[in-house]
Amino acid sequence: MALGASAGIGLGLGSISTSALARAAKLHVQAPYWYRFNVGEAEITVVSDGWQMLGDPSNSFLGVPKDEVRKELTDNFMNPSDMNIELNSFVVNSNGKMVLFDTGLGTSKMFGPKGGLLAKSLSDAGIKREDIDAVVISHGHIDHIGGIVDESGALMYPNAQVYMSQADFDYWTDERQMDSPWKKAFIIHARKNLLPVRDRLIFFKDEQEFLPGITAIAAPGHTLGHTMFNVESNGQSFFFVGDVSHHSVLLIENPRMEFLYDTDARQAVKTRLKMLSFLAENRIPILAYHFAWPGYGHFVKQGEGFRYLPAPMNMNL
Ligand SMILES: [Zn+2]
Repeated sequence: MALGASAGIGLGLGSISTSALARAAKLHVQAPYWYRFNVGEAEITVVSDGWQMLGDPSNSFLGVPKDEVRKELTDNFMNPSDMNIELNSFVVNSNGKMVLFDTGLGTSKMFGPKGGLLAKSLSDAGIKREDIDAVVISHGHIDHIGGIVDESGALMYPNAQVYMSQADFDYWTDERQMDSPWKKAFIIHARKNLLPVRDRLIFFKDEQEFLPGITAIAAPGHTLGHTMFNVESNGQSFFFVGDVSHHSVLLIENPRMEFLYDTDARQAVKTRLKMLSFLAENRIPILAYHFAWPGYGHFVKQGEGFRYLPAPMNMNL
């Protein structure tokens, strides 16, 4: 017996006029793009800037045959030919301070029209931009520094000190580094966003607790000054891993894979292997900037590489 026929008979669908049930207009609106959880006494709110469109992933994930990139994605039920990655900025409210980590693409449309939502996500989450005390930047790339100023150049977070590595400030504001079209676009946008806050920039050092409970961990390779952060409160902690990996499967199952926008891809691989091993062995929760929303979970060892296990969303604060 055909399943459709038996299901139809069993549910008595023949007697219901389906057209009468479908009159309400479709809503075409998604759930709000923020998500909140606690770590110790710290309240964490992931506030999305939207998506970054990468197109064919085999053009961005390198160092292995293109077929391997497509196979890993297909095996994991992901689109092998067109990739969007998330932009998971987040706010930590702890020790009387509101700290925003990374600022999205801002006004840049270099990676498509779906970024630049951070101000809306913050407002939807009930967070006022003027209440942000500190903006912490993982590295100087366009999708992390992009939302420090608005279209007119005015500061989006007028009361915030800005923290980043000196290596990345120096490199990504240096016009001599404009040696390819993409780097030119990155540097123009970095200069637009970073130069207006030059007088309120504080450079952190490796392993420095530069804000209460927030420690910088140098993770160079993707950029020279790329940094991860340990966020700790009341004996609990998680790591913001920034761009140690741009995808929850690629670069994780095979951490030796490389990424198009790496400044030093070999060093990035070394850093990735070291950091993923450390985080897996110590069972430390992580938040990843580009992983599927909201990007919070754990790494475990798997074969020659690792596996990312997303944490269930907890709607009970
Ligand atoms: Zn990025």
